[in-house]
Amino acid sequence: MDFDVIIIGGGMGGLSCAAFLVSSGLKTLILEKRRTLGGCCTSFIKKGFTFDWSVQSIGECHKDGIIGRILSKLEVFDDIKFIPVEPARLYHFPDFTFEQSSHLDIHIENLCQLFPKEKKSIKKVYYYFQEIYKEIINMGNKKNLKEFRFNKLFPYCYQYHSTTLKAFLDSIIYDNRLKSLISARSSYVLLPPEEASLIGMAALEMSYFSGGTFVVKGKVEDLPLLIAKGIRNKGGEIWLKSKAEKVIVENNQVKGVIVNNQFISSKVVVIAKDVLTALLKLVGEKKFPLRYIKRLKNMIPSLSYFITYLGIEGNIPFTSSNQEFFSSYNLKKEYDNIKKGVFDPNASFYLMAPSLLNQSHAPSGYSTVCLSYKAPYQILHGWEKSKRYILADHLIKKAKKVIPNIEKRIKVKWISTPKTIFKITGGTMGAAYGWAQIPRQAGINRLGNTTPIENLYICGHWSRPGGGLAAVAHSGELTYKAIINSSL
Ligand SMILES: Cc1cc2nc3c(=O)[nH]c(=O)nc-3n(C[C@H](O)[C@H](O)[C@H](O)COP(=O)(O)OP(=O)(O)OC[C@H]3O[C@@H](n4cnc5c(N)ncnc54)[C@H](O)[C@@H]3O)c2cc1C
Repeated sequence: MDFDVIIIGGGMGGLSCAAFLVSSGLKTLILEKRRTLGGCCTSFIKKGFTFDWSVQSIGECHKDGIIGRILSKLEVFDDIKFIPVEPARLYHFPDFTFEQSSHLDIHIENLCQLFPKEKKSIKKVYYYFQEIYKEIINMGNKKNLKEFRFNKLFPYCYQYHSTTLKAFLDSIIYDNRLKSLISARSSYVLLPPEEASLIGMAALEMSYFSGGTFVVKGKVEDLPLLIAKGIRNKGGEIWLKSKAEKVIVENNQVKGVIVNNQFISSKVVVIAKDVLTALLKLVGEKKFPLRYIKRLKNMIPSLSYFITYLGIEGNIPFTSSNQEFFSSYNLKKEYDNIKKGVFDPNASFYLMAPSLLNQSHAPSGYSTVCLSYKAPYQILHGWEKSKRYILADHLIKKAKKVIPNIEKRIKVKWISTPKTIFKITGGTMGAAYGWAQIPRQAGINRLGNTTPIENLYICGHWSRPGGGLAAVAHSGELTYKAIINSSL
């Protein structure tokens, strides 16, 4: 069997890349080790309650956004509905609640009303964010970047390649509270503003403002499943329960993949799964230059999540489905503790109420709630059962302040730790977003979509531009463009 391209991994990264490839008429095969597609972007059902396992809000679902473009390319755009999330999220600080709109103009206006003296600076910040975002989604592979002179084509990404979000805001904004409001979304990349890359954050921030923030009507996994249907309609092949065991490389050229004890030949292979294990084990460390491997081994994965999913009796007494409760305006210390594996029960937490938007998630008269902490892969004393239940109880106690008697209303409880994320996706250290979006791993400094092996590529959240569904969909397009330009 011969393919033009084999993609290893049927998460949103691999599916997005395949969508572009099959639309160009290339003979494409996706290998997925699990019995279902979507990777992180999947859903599960427990006793009549539906839960989206990870993804709770998505950017760029409109027709011109990357998700919308992929669906249109596959001629399935009208087969799915997205529900707008407005406000995108409520951020509760100890003394103040801020509603972050999904619409950039409203968001900027809200900030300007709260901080009228800094009106000009606020507009300047979002102007820079927008310019960086435009650059990042067009950034090709490294080979092309050299040819095109990076500093001329991508002046903002060039200027700020080593800048943190905090350093950038310190240079423009005066009020510390305003800085905290602007950087609130850095919790999406699980980093404090002191460590988050300006470029990574600007890209993420603007992807949620580009056309608004959405959830899928129904289950989130309907999105990857619909993309898969579109890929099959265009002649693409998808093999489930097909774990890639080895990528065969001879004379610095990929020849194909071993799967189900069978060799399948291909002109190009795309890694759309955890890149560390893929390159070190599936391909083999010795196939790469020492410098590349050294760099890979020095990279840091993002943090992860501890999540408690609840099906509860009765309604929820508020209207905003996405909320976050910060323990303080400055979270650096909290992150430092999390990284050490030390859990403070009073740490900041997220409260999602998905059935407020998707009533189909709970039977009539019931609701769904997801409570989560940021979490490291290893914690002091491990993730053994008792510890998991203690942490879940902490979260439930916190949620009690906004959902009365929640502990007595629980009908279903399911807990997911970073180990669960590792088990499901195989992602190093259960990382929620691939490599951490720190300056040395963001923008041009992020692992490129090409590799030292000419016909071996990477896409998904371990490559450029980064984590989150909109970003991994962009990575699929970047990888497709790199393949078309160089190998096929
Ligand atoms: C808890 C959590 C919450 C999140 N919340 C959001 C959110 O609200 N909004 C948002 O946009 N993003 C969110 N994200 C991030 C987003 O889900 C990911 O960035 C994105 O889904 C990653 O897609 P991917 O294709 O790169 O990788 P993955 O989803 O990890 O897919 C990799 C795929 O490869 C398969 N695979 C692994 N090894 C092999 C092999 N040897 N052979 C074949 N197949 C293999 C895996 O089974 C998997 O299906 C969240 C992530 C987590 C974990």
